[in-house]
Amino acid sequence: MKGSFGARVCQCGKPFHANPFASTWVSNYCEACRKRIKRHGDVRQTPVRKGEVREIVMRLKRLVKQTRQQEQVEAVFRDIGSRLLDVTTDDLTQPVPNGKQKPWANLWMTCAIDELQRVIGDIDAVQSGLVIAAMFVLQQEKGPPRFVSDDGFRFQLVRMWRSQTTLAFGSTYDAKRDKAIGWYKDLPARVTRHLSEILVTAYGPVAGYMTTAVRKDRERQAVFRAKLDAAFRPLVTD
Ligand SMILES: [Zn+2]
Repeated sequence: MKGSFGARVCQCGKPFHANPFASTWVSNYCEACRKRIKRHGDVRQTPVRKGEVREIVMRLKRLVKQTRQQEQVEAVFRDIGSRLLDVTTDDLTQPVPNGKQKPWANLWMTCAIDELQRVIGDIDAVQSGLVIAAMFVLQQEKGPPRFVSDDGFRFQLVRMWRSQTTLAFGSTYDAKRDKAIGWYKDLPARVTRHLSEILVTAYGPVAGYMTTAVRKDRERQAVFRAKLDAAFRPLVTD
C-alpha cells in the first residue's frame, strides 16, 4: 500500500512515521514521546518538581542539625564532591565486549564525565549532596507510583542534580513577554544513564543513611504523638 511504508502508531495513539531506511534507532514512539523519554526516562514518568525536593532538603537539614552532625555530614558531601572530580572513564562500567564492541561506547562516557565536571565545578557540594539524598528519600517515601521505573528515577535524579546550575539551561528571548525564557538542555539518554550510574555509586551509601534517618525520625514522631494522645486525650474528652 502506497504511503503506509514506515507508518506506525505510537503508544500514545498518535500516528508517526518511522524511518524505513534506518536499520537501528527504529523507534516505537512518536517525536513527542521520544522527547519525553529523553528528558524524563520513561513515557509514564511525571517530572519531579523542585518544590518537592526543596521540602525534603529542608527536613534533612533540620534532622542533621538536631543530631549535631552538621559538620561531619557537610565534610562527607564535600569529600564526595571532590572525589567525583577525579572520576575517569576507567571508573565506569565498561560495556561487555561482544566481539563487535562499538568504539563510540567510550564517547558517551567521556560526555558523561565532561558534564559531571562541568556541573560539579558550578554547584555547592553540600547543597548538591542534600538534593541527591532528598531524591532517594522521595523514592523511599513515594515508592513506585512516583517513579514508574528505574530509568524514571535515574533521569529525574540527574535532572534535579543538573538543574542546580544554569549551565544545564539554554535561553531564548521571548519578544512577546519581553524576557529570556530558559529551557532544560537534554542530554542523550546514554549520557544521562552513565551520569546516574556515577551519582548512584557515589551517593548510594550516604543516601542509605539519610533514608534510614528519615524513616527512624518519622517512627519516633509517631511514638511521641501516640504518647501525647494517651496522656492528654482523657483530659479533653467529655
Ligand atoms: Zn507518542
